Amino acid sequence: MMELLEGAGAAAVCASAGLMAYAVRTPSATLLAPSVHRGVDSRAAIALTFDDGPSESTPELLDILAAHRVPATFFQCGVNVRRLPDIARQVATSGHEIGNHSDTHPKLHFRSAEFIQRELESAQKSIKQITGTEPTLFRAPFGIRWFGLRNAQRELGLMGVMWTTLALDWKWPADRVIARLRNGARNGAILCLHDGRQLVAKPDISVTLQAVRRLLPELMKKGFHFEKVTDILCPTKN
Ligand SMILES: [Zn+2]
Repeated sequence: MMELLEGAGAAAVCASAGLMAYAVRTPSATLLAPSVHRGVDSRAAIALTFDDGPSESTPELLDILAAHRVPATFFQCGVNVRRLPDIARQVATSGHEIGNHSDTHPKLHFRSAEFIQRELESAQKSIKQITGTEPTLFRAPFGIRWFGLRNAQRELGLMGVMWTTLALDWKWPADRVIARLRNGARNGAILCLHDGRQLVAKPDISVTLQAVRRLLPELMKKGFHFEKVTDILCPTKN
């Protein structure tokens, strides 16, 4: 099935629009490219992930995480990394994991394999040059996968990462976001929040900051700890 989907007649193979929609957008689907969407459930561990950064407000988020000694994973866009190199670097030197979130945050569906390859490659290059770390994780913008992504990920050594709960922190008020994340908190959860808003300069991420500020102590009190995505996938980590 996967071989067929990668082939030239891929669109014809996916006669069912339902299957196509599933393959493109469902967090647990891996038909178009390898990805994970949750960590191991044997530890009371949660992975916090932040997409679309870095932004001017990322340092404030780093302060909150540092105050609780919580590591997280940041899926950065190449354009934002080049716009705010010092902040991108600060994320890395603060001990967090950095993943690739494409260069310009496009929707990847209906795009050519070359376009997809260029998007991942440019971001990978900028992140490596500016932060000194080479990502091994990729999060597709809008969670949309497409033909060609599998090859691009393979060439750059990237594993796709989706999520167990999407915070909707770009459109909901803080109380609603907090309730949703609280509900999604469980062993191995990968929570998806945002420290930027696509490529927007000086975005308002106050809802995200408020949610993290309130949720961290609450979840820690319930016995959860926080791990980077790479760690939460590993069954043997202590
Ligand atoms: Zn995004």
